[in-house]
Amino acid sequence: MKLLTVVVPCYNEEEALPIFYDEMSRTMEEFKNTDSELEFELLFIDDGSKDNTLQIIKSLKAKDDRVRYVSFSRNFGKEAGIYAGLDNANGDYVVIMDADLQDPPSLLSEMYKAVSEEGYDTAATRRVTRKGEPPIRSFFARQFYRLMNSMTELDIMDGARDYRIMTRTMVDAVLSMKEYNRFTKGIYSWVGFKTKWIDYENRERVAGETKWNFWKLFLYSMEGFVGFTTAPLTIAAVIGLFFTFAAFVMIVFIVIRTLVYGDPTSGWPSMICIIVFLGGVQLFCIGLVGEYLAKTYLETKGRPIYIAKEKC
Ligand code: UDP
Ligand code: MG
Repeated sequence: MKLLTVVVPCYNEEEALPIFYDEMSRTMEEFKNTDSELEFELLFIDDGSKDNTLQIIKSLKAKDDRVRYVSFSRNFGKEAGIYAGLDNANGDYVVIMDADLQDPPSLLSEMYKAVSEEGYDTAATRRVTRKGEPPIRSFFARQFYRLMNSMTELDIMDGARDYRIMTRTMVDAVLSMKEYNRFTKGIYSWVGFKTKWIDYENRERVAGETKWNFWKLFLYSMEGFVGFTTAPLTIAAVIGLFFTFAAFVMIVFIVIRTLVYGDPTSGWPSMICIIVFLGGVQLFCIGLVGEYLAKTYLETKGRPIYIAKEKC
């Protein structure tokens, strides 16, 4: 017998959960008909929901003993939810799936086949269209992936979802990365393993609302950069070096000009421009360093990634 754990991070998903459960039950039935060697475990992570999500999970548990859950003491974010899911999963295989059915359970059989028969360690999904998303958001998302791939040694697929199945070996590898500032997409790429990519058309969520806004996505992308590359620090150093060199050239130029033509003191506006410009560059670079320092600070505190209030 093999066990497949389905990890479902949920934050205020009272509307989507019943629909999700129905759809998932159907998928599990289909699996049973084709592969009776596989058992399921549904592991819901209640990420400090403020609505009736936990009650709904409990009522699902009452009628279906494949259901388990972990409930957080507050909202820790989806990354923490994923970590807690992997941490508490008993399965030989683990799949992470959103509660809003944007990750279609119908792909599961193909994903499972990839890891159980085709010799892959993980099968991940990526959406090929960004339908139903504001164009400006798609644009920034694309730029983010381009920058990320050129600045880090990671190879992150554009449009990659969190929807993915992993073998136990890979789950343990991901769990061994205990960093507090988690950027799971980077972690998957960092740990390596053989990945099968499965494409699908984007779907809109069945009910409820997205928890992401532009600012949150921006902060999340910063997490990605700071977590996986120190290239910005190098760039800051290079900019500094460039200005030092430029200043040296200017000094030589001014000394020679003064010796040859005398010293008419002028150029106040241009000097102010240069001072403001350099001030800006300096603050920017200090901010950059601060960003890394802040992450280091949080990391050294060694705080837990999540706190469970209840689990079973
Ligand atoms: N989620 C979570 N904690 C959060 C935010 C979101 O567990 O703080 C869950 C949410 O319930 C859903 C999944 O993460 O199951 C994806 O969230 P959402 O659909 O809002 O994101 P999107 O699909 O728009 O990227
Ligand atoms: Mg969604």
